[in-house]
Amino acid sequence: MSKINRVPGYMQSKGNRNRGPIGDREIRYKCSMQNTILDVLRARPGWQEVSGPNTAGNQQQQGQKGSSSGSQQSKDKNGTTGASSSGGTTSAKTSTQNSTPSNQATGSATTSSKSSDGDWDFYWCDREWLHANYDTMFLQEHQKILHFRNHYELTRKNLMVKNLKRLRKQTEREMGKKEAESFDFFPTTYELPSEYHIFVEEFKKNPGIIWIMKPAAKSQGRGIFLFRKLKDITDWKKGEYQPLTDPNREVPETYVVQRYIEDPYLIGGRKFDIRVYVLVVSYNPLKVWLYRSGFARFSNSRFSLDSIEDAYVHLTNVAVQKTAPDYDPDKGCKWATQQLRQYLTAKHSADAARKVFQGIDNIIIKSLQSVQKIIINDKHCFEMYGYDVLLDANLKPWLIEINASPSLTASGKDDYDLKYGVLNDVLNVLDLENRLTGKEKRVGGFDLIWDDGPVLADDGSMECSVNGTSTTANSFLGCHCERKKQLREIYTAAQALKKTAVS
Ligand code: ADP
Repeated sequence: MSKINRVPGYMQSKGNRNRGPIGDREIRYKCSMQNTILDVLRARPGWQEVSGPNTAGNQQQQGQKGSSSGSQQSKDKNGTTGASSSGGTTSAKTSTQNSTPSNQATGSATTSSKSSDGDWDFYWCDREWLHANYDTMFLQEHQKILHFRNHYELTRKNLMVKNLKRLRKQTEREMGKKEAESFDFFPTTYELPSEYHIFVEEFKKNPGIIWIMKPAAKSQGRGIFLFRKLKDITDWKKGEYQPLTDPNREVPETYVVQRYIEDPYLIGGRKFDIRVYVLVVSYNPLKVWLYRSGFARFSNSRFSLDSIEDAYVHLTNVAVQKTAPDYDPDKGCKWATQQLRQYLTAKHSADAARKVFQGIDNIIIKSLQSVQKIIINDKHCFEMYGYDVLLDANLKPWLIEINASPSLTASGKDDYDLKYGVLNDVLNVLDLENRLTGKEKRVGGFDLIWDDGPVLADDGSMECSVNGTSTTANSFLGCHCERKKQLREIYTAAQALKKTAVS
């Protein structure tokens, strides 16, 4: 085989690069997280870790004497410390707490002692690093990096809603009311303090309903509270809820106030939301992969509207639930999405379950389209989103929020396996090894659901044996996910195809 045949496609263009093609050497990666992603990268054959500032390897060396399992990284959803009106820091990202710690993974590559600024092919960086460096760095042809420059357009709660409202309006103008109804998947939301007066008008129109206040740029349930009376919010306005904010900030922290979904779909009397993994490899054209597995996160206590101040009842974040006095870490609070789909199918019907998951597809695509023209597209960037979706009593899915850094810390063995699989398949889709043909519609647990337009499933596809009927969209959330078998098949097929092309 000639040398050029082993060069990945995206490297064949002329580019200023200082290293040889990946096809001829190891793939050099950097990683600033010390959790499941580091295990995945270290176990990947032919991948070589390089250290440097802001890498897990470096943090490990420096923190030898500290916590045994990694760093605590402090960040808010915005990923910045000085931007706009977010309220400062504090999200604690914990490291792997599971049965398969970093380094224990098979085939573990050693950490290169070389410092490596710029000398990498793949960087799983944190958002702070990207914000601080993106504008001044020059990415070489072959480099891939996590996060798009302005990912916060979708992942800050206020901006997500602003973008969705704009596209809904545009759709109504251009295509009519009926079409715009397909955007009715996010609860009525206002940004505070900027939209306080509009909110008060809306509040008065709907006396007695419950609202939820959320800091726009925080995560893990921090700073959230529910209220029924306007008085509660006036207290907040006076500063009663301000202690969490950075005292040095001059602008008040931005919140969103949102209609609380008072009738969530309950299982065993408990509320849950669904975490869905979505990989975007390009915004222009929009190219979206949806992972088959995810999980439902249950609250620890039975749902009731009697105690709206009780976070254990109303917030389904694992970070909140695991602090409950009666939380049982062995039992956990999670169901695999497959289990949920099976439950809905058995309890209601295959059709009802299918509608739920089609509704989630709609949420994913519409939300991404709402920022498609705003996100700074860059062929070097990709994003792995964690969508949070809540079902109401009528089985209607509601978008709660979108995370650009969904937790990769595992809460148990099954959770670890799930996250390990998702992350491995992110790398499989990105295909730095150039093992695929580029035409695949499924790679491991990921299905291509949008490729500049909807992707249809192959004829006669019966992959979702849960509902037993064929779907037309190439979307299989909550369906069987035999990822390893599927990977073996596509790699064999791709190899055969490449051999034929060469001979
Ligand atoms: P965070 O980024 O802090 O996790 P979320 O917006 O995800 O904030 O809200 C945390 C939790 O609160 C959600 O997982 C969900 O259980 C609950 N929640 C948030 N918004 C609503 C809503 N509008 N109606 C009902 N429950 C909600």
